Amino acid sequence: MSKKSAKAKSKKAASSKKAKSTKAPASSPVRALPVVDPAAGVKRVLVITAHPDDVDFGAAGTVAQMTKAGVEVTYCLITDGDAGGSDLSSTAEQRAAGRRIEQTNAATKVGVSDLFFLGHLDGQVAVTLDLRKDLSRVIRQVRPDRVICQSPLLNLDRIYASHPDHLAAGAAALAAVYPDARNPFAFPELLNEGLEAHTVPEVWVMAMSDPTLVVDTTEVIDRKIEALRCHASQLADPDSVDGLLRGWGQMVAEAAGLKPSRTAEAFRRVDTA
Ligand SMILES: [Zn+2]
Repeated sequence: MSKKSAKAKSKKAASSKKAKSTKAPASSPVRALPVVDPAAGVKRVLVITAHPDDVDFGAAGTVAQMTKAGVEVTYCLITDGDAGGSDLSSTAEQRAAGRRIEQTNAATKVGVSDLFFLGHLDGQVAVTLDLRKDLSRVIRQVRPDRVICQSPLLNLDRIYASHPDHLAAGAAALAAVYPDARNPFAFPELLNEGLEAHTVPEVWVMAMSDPTLVVDTTEVIDRKIEALRCHASQLADPDSVDGLLRGWGQMVAEAAGLKPSRTAEAFRRVDTA
């Protein structure tokens, strides 16, 4: 998440807590959704997000379920989160380095050791051809069976999930999936790098207001909590993470028709085959 001052950080922390503890992030009204095994039918999955910690809020449980089943999961971070944190004496380079370490450590908690950091500036992500090319390059390198990304749609009920960087990251990721990465004539320099076109058959979009599937994360919620706690520079109250994520996951599960004792993550599946 992007913040530029201690004031902004504390405001964000309080706001996030409020947003996540009082409003179910899944669809409303309640409607039953299919509970899907996220490891079924995939060998490689690429997660594209704007900032360190985004994947851990939105999909770390699903990632843990996949890696547990042997799926290779790669993270692609568009920014290093250099506009996040509260230490005004730090440089952007120091903040970026710290957050890369935090995300790398968080990834290990859910079985991920392959990370790309594209180094775009935090708070300034835009759907440029340069970003689309960078993402197409990663897609052609990883050659995933599924991409998980953020929503490109502004959600006025969950404005904290709709950071402008998130919207741009989602739109750029979808553009990279279709049409760029699969089109050999798009960014011909990638062919010159030896990266042939690749079609990603499906995308799962996080934090949609109208999800189409859920993943039961009850068995791995502890690992998701561990992952999120690695982002120490972003946590005003680390002790609140446990209750926050369990409560949030239970609301998603309940809203999707699972038993109240379960936790879940919800996605909208987009067919891009
Ligand atoms: Zn973010």
